Amino acid sequence: MDAYNILISHGINPSMQRIAIMEYLLNHRTHPSADDVYTNLSKTMPTLSKTTVYNTLKLLSEKGAALMLTIDENKVNFDGDTSPHTHFLCKTCGRIYDLPMAGSVKEVMAMDADGHLITEVHQYYRGICKNCLVTKK
Ligand SMILES: [Zn+2]
Ligand SMILES: [Zn+2]
Repeated sequence: MDAYNILISHGINPSMQRIAIMEYLLNHRTHPSADDVYTNLSKTMPTLSKTTVYNTLKLLSEKGAALMLTIDENKVNFDGDTSPHTHFLCKTCGRIYDLPMAGSVKEVMAMDADGHLITEVHQYYRGICKNCLVTKK
């Protein structure tokens, strides 16, 4: 699905700027922060404001079109991939990697939640990524 259709299917009014921000998330699977998105998009969209970027990313995550990650305590990161997966934060380079979801999370989704409805499960891992392990040697 392209950015326009993702917005429509999540009930989000597809303005030019929202499409551009959604597109950025789809094309950059690096889990960018709002600042990253703003810095890169404002080069080609000079009228874009930081507030618009932040509000749009917040809206995308509220409507389920993107994930808001709080794996890094210094900043909030966003992910255009909403399929079930988990995240690994490298404490050395700060990069966030995608990892497959462990079986236990699927069990959490399926468990009896005492009548509550679970719509999101966030599983975070922290450590040293394979690239940083190589350079340390
Ligand atoms: Zn690393
Ligand atoms: Zn991800």
